[in-house]
Formats: sequence, structure tokens, C-alpha cells
Amino acid sequence: MGTGSLMGRIVDKIREGERIDPAEGVYLLEEGDLLVLGRLADEVRSRKHPEGVVTFVIDRNINYTNICVSGCRFCAFYRPPGHPEGYVLSREEIFQKIEKTLAVGGTQILMQGGLNPDLGLEYFEELFRAIKERYPVVLHSLSPVEIDYLARQSGLTLEQVIERLRTAGLDSIPGGGAEILVDRVRREISPRKTSVRRWLEVTATAHRLGMKTTATMMFGCGESFTDRVAHFEAVRSLQDETGGFTAFIPWPYQPGNTELGGSAVSAWDYLRTLAVSRIYLDNIPNVQVSWVTQGVKIAQVALAFGANDFGSTMLEENVVRAAGVCNSSSEQEIVSLIKNAGFRPAQRDNTYHILKFY
Ligand code: SF4
Repeated sequence: MGTGSLMGRIVDKIREGERIDPAEGVYLLEEGDLLVLGRLADEVRSRKHPEGVVTFVIDRNINYTNICVSGCRFCAFYRPPGHPEGYVLSREEIFQKIEKTLAVGGTQILMQGGLNPDLGLEYFEELFRAIKERYPVVLHSLSPVEIDYLARQSGLTLEQVIERLRTAGLDSIPGGGAEILVDRVRREISPRKTSVRRWLEVTATAHRLGMKTTATMMFGCGESFTDRVAHFEAVRSLQDETGGFTAFIPWPYQPGNTELGGSAVSAWDYLRTLAVSRIYLDNIPNVQVSWVTQGVKIAQVALAFGANDFGSTMLEENVVRAAGVCNSSSEQEIVSLIKNAGFRPAQRDNTYHILKFY
């Protein structure tokens, strides 16, 4: 499989289960043949998941507010405070969305929104309590960026904020807002957003308190291959310390309707980056496809490039939709896609425990 001595040595390392270093990661992204990367990532996936199961969760994204003071240049979703299109969902609206989710077998709610100065820690505590009193649903909600904002607004420590949210009903945290974990890139695309150090600090604090999180990466926003590997390295290093990441979710930047503009990442780049992430992140159990951005057909191909999780049914999705990309899917469609790709579909919960096989 090797196409040169360096590539041959990297391939041998991966096959023997050895960890690759940042220079080797960059080399794979720069020089690796697409199908070689896919085969290697598939070998890593099958060592971790030899039974050939591909999981997914039935959940709904609830974007409780689009009002945000961060003004990220890549974001088509937010509206600044005072904008006529700004909104905050009422409790009744949120409850109705949860009821509809439960009615179709959903188990989880992913609540995320903008950094809205009118919504403090007490708002979330009261909302989470009210949800948990009414519904048997997992709250996989609030990104490290929102938690950082709540801590800064309230003057409390990260430990205090996360503990209070957990007491109110927060179960786990989706690792959104990571974008590219390189401060130079963040200054370009989201200068007012949480720094790399702080994103990692929120995540490490959650892990130390026993709360699981995922890690995401939004790529294709002007970063280099070296930056992508620096992101992988930051995630892998933290996972070595805490073991708290359940999954890695790389998804490409969606340029539609954004200030940053630019062009969309190709399926070729998406699959290569996904494959190298699976190879590099040897300590992360699950890698998730992004069918919302790639469409279900490329997502199906991604199952041969290292992914073992199909993400969520996304009964509702507004952030990618705001950038003009509209993909949708149902439980039955996801089950068929997984089966037709040669894997065994299973519904999971927020911590990747299997709830049901199909
Ligand atoms: S990405 Fe998040 S933090 Fe940035 S502007 Fe959009 S809603 Fe706000």
C-alpha cells in the first residue's frame, strides 16, 4: 500500500496500532491517496468496532435563541441583539418540540443557541429543571462556548457553572464551537469567541466532573493542513488526560449567507479529513459522519472512511439550514442507509450505549 518510504513507514505504524505524530498527520493530509486513507481508517474503525455496528441517536436540535454577541464571521445563523429577526423560544414552544421528539422515539435534546446577554445561568437552571420534571429526556446541550459565556457573565468558576447546570438536569455537552483549535485561525473567523485554551479548559472541567462531551471540528474555513492536525493533536492530548470525549465530529464550513464567504469543501477533502481524523485520534472511541452538511450518500461512503456513527436524525436543524444547505432524514432512512452500506444499525443514547438493534 505504501507509495514511498515515508508513506510506507506511516502505513506500517498505523497497521501495527502505533500512534502517528503531527508531521505524519500532515503528510497523510497532503500526500495520502484518498483510497489508501480510506482503507487505513477503515482498518482502525474495524479494530475499534469489529462487530460492524453503526449507531445513531434520535434527537432534535432546539436552537433556543439566535441572538448572539459573538458575531462569528462564518455564522449565518445568529442575529445581533436588537435585530428584528432575533428570537428567544418560549417555554411552551420548547416543550412542544420535546413532546414531538418523544412521540417519534427520541431520547435526547440538543439545545444550543447564541450568546444572548439576556439569558443568564438561572434561565438555563429553571428551563432544565422544568424539562426534567416533565419529560424523560436526555439533555445533551450547551457548547463549551455557551458555558464559558455563562461563567463570565455570572462571575462564577467553570466548576460552579457546570455543577449547577448538572444539578438542574444537564447530562452531557456537545463539543461545539471548537471550529479549528488554533488561535490564529480563530482570530480570523471568530475574533470574539472563546480562545483555544478556554475551550479546552471548559471541556477538561466537564470531564473532571464526570460529564462526557464530544469534540467537533469545523474545517475548510481558511486553515492549513497543519492547523487541522494541530486541532487533532489538541483533542488527542486532552483525551489522554481525561478520557472524557465520546466522539469526534468533523464537519465542513458552510459558506452560504456568511460574512466570511469562500467556497465549500469538496466531498474528496471531507472524506480525506475524516479518514485522517480516525487514524490520528487513536484514543477517541467514535467518529461521526456529518450527513447534514454532506448529504446522506456521501455520509454512507464515509462509513468506509473510518466513521462508525451516523449522528442524529436531526428532527430539526437550523444552523446549517441558515447557510442554505437543507438535508433531512428519518429514522427508517438512516437504518436503510446503514444497512445498505453493509453495517448493522443501532439506536444509541448520548453516551453511545446501544438502546436497540434493527
Ligand atoms: S457560531 Fe455561535 S457564537 Fe458564533 S455567532 Fe453563531 S451563534 Fe454566535
